Amino acid sequence: MANELDLLIRNARLRTHGADLMSIGIRAGRIELVESRPSLPAAREIDAAGNLVTESFVNPHLHLDKVYTLPRLDDRALTEYQKGTMGAAMTAIELASRVKQDYDVAWIVPNVRRAVAKAARHGCTHIRAFADVDTKARLEGVKAVLQVREEWRGRVDIQVVAFPQDGVVRDPGSEALVRQALELGADVVGGIPWIEFTEADARSHIELMFALATEFDRDVSMLVDDAGDAGLRTLEMMAVQAIKTGWQGRALAHHARAMGLYPEPYFRKLVALLASARMGLVSDPHTGPLHARVRDLLEAGALVCLGQDDIHDAYYPYGRNSMLEVAFLASHLLWMTAAPDRERLYDMITIEAARAIGVSDFGLKVGGPAHMVVLRAPDVLEALRDHAPPAFVVSHGRLLGDADFHASPPAP
Ligand SMILES: [Zn+2]
Repeated sequence: MANELDLLIRNARLRTHGADLMSIGIRAGRIELVESRPSLPAAREIDAAGNLVTESFVNPHLHLDKVYTLPRLDDRALTEYQKGTMGAAMTAIELASRVKQDYDVAWIVPNVRRAVAKAARHGCTHIRAFADVDTKARLEGVKAVLQVREEWRGRVDIQVVAFPQDGVVRDPGSEALVRQALELGADVVGGIPWIEFTEADARSHIELMFALATEFDRDVSMLVDDAGDAGLRTLEMMAVQAIKTGWQGRALAHHARAMGLYPEPYFRKLVALLASARMGLVSDPHTGPLHARVRDLLEAGALVCLGQDDIHDAYYPYGRNSMLEVAFLASHLLWMTAAPDRERLYDMITIEAARAIGVSDFGLKVGGPAHMVVLRAPDVLEALRDHAPPAFVVSHGRLLGDADFHASPPAP
């Protein structure tokens, strides 16, 4: 039939419609209608049974080349990273980097597929994925993630970050490798300026990576101040560089754990800087004992979202690409459990995360793209409490199914 919808979701409870149950009609990858009594026929109908239907989940921070690598190492990096107030974070990174000596696309690809299939299962349709690019990892990790990005395009969209995990000044040769990764098709320029030995080197690191970003016209994502050192200042340097290069709204910071130790006057300056750089922050409070001041940043109107960070690697032994689980953990670690906080947490794994990684075409509304989850819970409270996988996942207008949820051979 000419006016037939591809998919109709009936009895959907929406975060925006109170107690009214709505129907959502989808055609050609877009939301065509949100109505209480739709009259158009549909090729396929599903019943949400009064459960919550929302935008799909977005994971703005995942080290996708490292997933499931913990068995290749011992637990020494974990122990160092999670000690006290993170004084030994750099030692942990050095220990963890041993895994990269054996880096090979051949064994990384199946791990990446497995993690992305789990993302699909848990309703996560967009991921910003870091892949280490340095003289140890060479281009093996980034090649693996780029390959899986192509396999999953249109089901789980992956932005690949070329990430010089071991530093740029510290690791001569890595800048050229980041350039090669961008030439291969990496979407985002990474960075980790705080890992450099001096402030001057951290500044060079930031300048070199922003230079690549402007040359290749790519966004920037950097891990900043990821250690228990109140003297770390790379979030500030990054924001200043974003403003200097005209990259406002195109730079995203991650971690900024040292923020938890800053004096109040300096914290307030940072909040103002973030606003003028239009720079968001991704926090992953479940992967380290120190975290950014998420609550205060939110209150100041900053763009803050949550990331999975790691899945079963040298830094974090758990993780299954469930953003509801990430939000559940964060609600404890950030002490955000009241109703308005729960709603905010939910935004931080959906619409705010999409905004942070530059997915501007996002949102459950007529005309919006059909990226949605039909949960097994009627409200955000129960969704967080149970953090169960959704009953249905819709990505790009397509209902995902069992074939997508298992890490099997790539789709045709
Ligand atoms: Zn990370």
